[in-house]
Amino acid sequence: MSLNQEQIAHVVEEVVRKYRAQQALSGQKPTSTPSTISQSDGIFANIDDALAAAEIAQQQLMELTLQNRKDIIAAMRAASLENAEYLAQLAHEETGLGRVEHKVIKNRIAAIKTPGTEDLVSTAYSGDDGLTVVEMAPYEVIGSITPSTNPTSTVINNSIGMVAAGNAVVFNPHPGAAHCSNETVRILNRAILSVGGPANLLSSTTTPTLESSQRIMQHPQVKLLVVTGGGAVVKAAMSSGKNCIAAGPGNPPVIVDNTADLQKAGKYIVDGATFDNNILCTAEKEVFVFHNVADQLKEEMKHNGAYELLDRQIDELVHITVEDIASDHPRANREWIGKDAHLILEKLGINVGGEIRLIIAEVDERHPFVIAEMLMPILPIIRVDNIHEALEKAKKAEHGFKHTAMMHSTNLPNLALVSRHIETTIFVKNAPSYAGLGVGGEGFTTLSIAGPTGQGLTSARCFTRQRRCVLKDAFRIV
Ligand code: NAD
Repeated sequence: MSLNQEQIAHVVEEVVRKYRAQQALSGQKPTSTPSTISQSDGIFANIDDALAAAEIAQQQLMELTLQNRKDIIAAMRAASLENAEYLAQLAHEETGLGRVEHKVIKNRIAAIKTPGTEDLVSTAYSGDDGLTVVEMAPYEVIGSITPSTNPTSTVINNSIGMVAAGNAVVFNPHPGAAHCSNETVRILNRAILSVGGPANLLSSTTTPTLESSQRIMQHPQVKLLVVTGGGAVVKAAMSSGKNCIAAGPGNPPVIVDNTADLQKAGKYIVDGATFDNNILCTAEKEVFVFHNVADQLKEEMKHNGAYELLDRQIDELVHITVEDIASDHPRANREWIGKDAHLILEKLGINVGGEIRLIIAEVDERHPFVIAEMLMPILPIIRVDNIHEALEKAKKAEHGFKHTAMMHSTNLPNLALVSRHIETTIFVKNAPSYAGLGVGGEGFTTLSIAGPTGQGLTSARCFTRQRRCVLKDAFRIV
C-alpha cells in the first residue's frame, strides 16, 4: 500500500492524538518535556547490565499480543515526532555535524516511514500433505551499533523496525553521539512504557566505547548484529562470527548526460549534496558529466548555491580537508566533516554568506576528492566523453560498495545501461539522492542500508528469522 502526503499526515495526526490521550489517561507528561525523563530508562552504566535487561524485556514482549506490539510502535512513532526538533538540536550540538533543519526531516521521516508490524508476512503452503506455515520470528536480542552522522534518526529507525519484529535492542551509539542517542532511547522507552510495553525494551550504555561495541559483538545473548558505520565497524562485525547486517560506507557517483534537464539536474544535485552538509552515506559525492553540457551544469549549480574553486584554491583545500593525500586511501579530515560550505571557504580566505551551500571543483577521477568519502559539502566534477566512460569511472569511484548512485538523463537506453551495470543498492534517476530514502520519492525509509551483507534497505522483516510449522494431513480447505 502506498500513501500520499495527505494520508500520511492524517495517520500521523491520529497517532499523536491517541498517544497524547493515552499519556493523559496514565497521568504521564508528554515526552516533549525532556527534563522529566528519568535517568534509568534503559541506560545502564555497564553494557552487560543493558544486555541482561534486554533479555528480560524481550521475554516480556513475547507475552504481549500483536495488537500490543502495534500500539507500542504507534507510541514510538508519536514520541519520535513530538521530539523530532529537540533531538535534532541535541544531535547537532553534540556532534557539530550537519544542519538542524535536515536532522529534523531525518527524525520525522524515520518516525513516519519506517515500516512496522505490517512488514512481517506469513506464508502458507497447503496440499495433500496438510498445511505448513512459515512465520517471521524475532532473533530476540539485537545488538545495534550506530553512527555519529545520523545518530537519533538511526536509533528511531532501528528501534521501530527491530521492535516491530519482536526483538529487544541493545545499542552501542557512537561515543561522539552518546548523549543524543541515549536521549532517543530514553524517549522511546518512555513511549513503550506508556502503552503497557516492557521496560528496557531498548537499552544502551552511558559511556559507549569501542570496547563496549566489541563486547556486544562477542556476547552470547546477542543473536543478530546490526552495524551502521564506516569500513572498520563493518569489518569487525563481519569477522565476529555472528549473524550480521552491515550497513557500510558509500561514495555515491552522479552521472549527467547530454539529454538531462540541466536546470533540474543542477538544482537536484546541489539539494542532495548539501542535505545535512553531505554526511549521509547516500549523498552525491562526485559528478561525471558529459563534456558538452558541463559548463551549463556548473552554471545551474551556481544558481543554486554552489561556489566553484579553481586551480591553486583546489590544491589548498585538499590539504585542509583530506588526510593521507598521497596514499591510495586518502581520508576526509574529521575536523571538516559535516561543516557548512561557507566555513570551509573561510579557511581559504574566501568570505561568502550562508547562501553558498556547496563547493564545486573540476578535477580528474584520480583526485582525492573523488576517492575519499568526503562527507562534507565539497563536490568534485569530472568531464567525460560518453556514457561508457561515465559508467566505468562512476563504478570505480563507488569502490564496489554497492551503495548508491544517481543519474540525470532523459535517454532511456543510457538510463537502462547504467541502472543495469552500476550495481548499487539504490539508484535514483532525475531526483536528489534523498528521494532514494523516501524523502520526495516513493518507498519506505531506512537509515541502515546494508550493501555488504545484501539486505539492502533494511526493515522489520530483515530483523527476523524464518520458522516453519507443519501440520500433517489436515487443514487443507479446498
Ligand atoms: P564510524 O564507523 O566511525 O562509527 C560507527 C559506529 O561503529 C560507532 O558506534 C563506533 O563506535 C563503531 N565502531 C567503529 N569502529 C569500530 C570497531 N573497529 N569495532 C567496533 N565498533 C566500531 O562511523 P561514523 O563516522 O559515525 O559514520 C559515518 C560512516 O558511516 C560513513 O562511512 C557513512 O557512509 C557510514 N554510514 C553508512 C550508513 C548506511 O546505511 N550504509 C548509514 C550511516 C552512515
